[in-house]
Amino acid sequence: IILCTNMYFFPQSITTSDPNKDLQALSLIAAHSHISGLGLDDNLQPREASQGMVGQLTARKAAGVILKMIQAGKIAGRAVLIAGPPSTGKTAIATGMAQSLGPDVPFTALAASEIFSLELSKTEALTQAFRRSIGIKIKEETELIEGEVVEIQIDRSITGGHKQGKLTIRTTDMETIYELGNKMIDGLQKEKVLAGDIISIDKASGKITKLGRSYTRARDYDAMGPNTKFVQCPEGELQKRKEVVHTVSLHEIDVINSRSQGFLALFSGDTGEIRPEVRDQINTKVAEWREEGKAEISPGVLFIDEVHMLDIECFAFINRALEDEFSPIVIMATNRGISKTRGTSYMSPHGLPADLLDRSIIIRTEPYSEEEVGQILSIRAQEEEVELDAGALALLTKIGAETSLRYAANLISVANQIAVKKRSSVVTTDCIKKAYVLFLDSGRSVQFLDEFSDQYIN
Ligand code: ATP
Repeated sequence: IILCTNMYFFPQSITTSDPNKDLQALSLIAAHSHISGLGLDDNLQPREASQGMVGQLTARKAAGVILKMIQAGKIAGRAVLIAGPPSTGKTAIATGMAQSLGPDVPFTALAASEIFSLELSKTEALTQAFRRSIGIKIKEETELIEGEVVEIQIDRSITGGHKQGKLTIRTTDMETIYELGNKMIDGLQKEKVLAGDIISIDKASGKITKLGRSYTRARDYDAMGPNTKFVQCPEGELQKRKEVVHTVSLHEIDVINSRSQGFLALFSGDTGEIRPEVRDQINTKVAEWREEGKAEISPGVLFIDEVHMLDIECFAFINRALEDEFSPIVIMATNRGISKTRGTSYMSPHGLPADLLDRSIIIRTEPYSEEEVGQILSIRAQEEEVELDAGALALLTKIGAETSLRYAANLISVANQIAVKKRSSVVTTDCIKKAYVLFLDSGRSVQFLDEFSDQYIN
């Protein structure tokens, strides 16, 4: 993104997101692609450097405790505020949490400024973000007649114990059917295998032969030749009905039920505003499913970066939404100290109103030591496949400690371009120096502004 300006001082305004775009998770990934978790051991103790994470031990440990509570489903409806100076890893920690939660727990990330879309009202945008962060595990029972073959295991150990292995065939699961070949399934249906039966399957033709129930001697198996698989249908399994669990977000259910194109709306991004009546109906339905044991609510995480950019109406909405029966955990991040709450004339800690602050547990991040800055920059260079020589890393570390970690990290790719131009595969001190002269950090930019303020528009 290239930004140009001729302004000296100008009031900060709220950005608007693309009006044609559905409220979507901000792409927070690239800058944090080196992070794969919080880097904690089994006792939630932070390792000094692990999973791409360095230092910030207290905050990481606190985040780990929150993570455990989320996994245990014990913390829905709470707010966590990660507060600390710029570039101290607030977003990095949230990314680490998202990575550790795995795919079954919904994690929605957005920057507060995205809420101010032209197409959706603020509260609709927030409602969608909240509902995206609630997972509904829907349990479906497949229609099975008692006695039908559901699952067959091939247990090689019964041929003499030396060849262990299991193969599962599900007659109701199309994917598995394809894996094993239709011929085999035809054979199974014809044979009508029952629990406890042993069958042989010819690997080449897929032909299935029922061998009865006592055909268990290794000698007999060997006599059938290497091209044959043996299957003993497990006792007990056949009485069970198979349960299939899908996880969808509450927002996805809203969209599917409110748009004429149904679930295709999820792909086209045409979600628009959703009527409150539709949501009420869905809430009632989901509550019913839960009562009947057909669904489980799995509260996920809504991460709101730069939360000070929200205004008082949004904060009031969040306060109320946290009390809803379907509420995720809300993790917010800010680098503001005492500042004005948008939409009011009050100053407050982190720009958050007192009632929301009161509900929040606060994790603090602290500035890094020079050594930690060096470690993070070294990890970033590896991630960007840039080789820095020792001098270059030392200089970059010094720049990072004196300006900001983010500025120094940005210089890595610039310095690499300079190295490429010089046909060098390694970035040297010289390349870093050139990059530092070409691109100003914010400190030098302010100094420059002060010197030449009369040439700018005020
Ligand atoms: P801001 O307040 O400006 O939004 P922030 O506190 O959210 O800043 P990040 O964006 O998380 O800061 O950090 C800046 C860069 O440094 C990112 O690329 C991030 O991945 C990396 N980083 C920050 N802290 C760590 C850490 N402890 N370990 C590894 N990488 C880190």
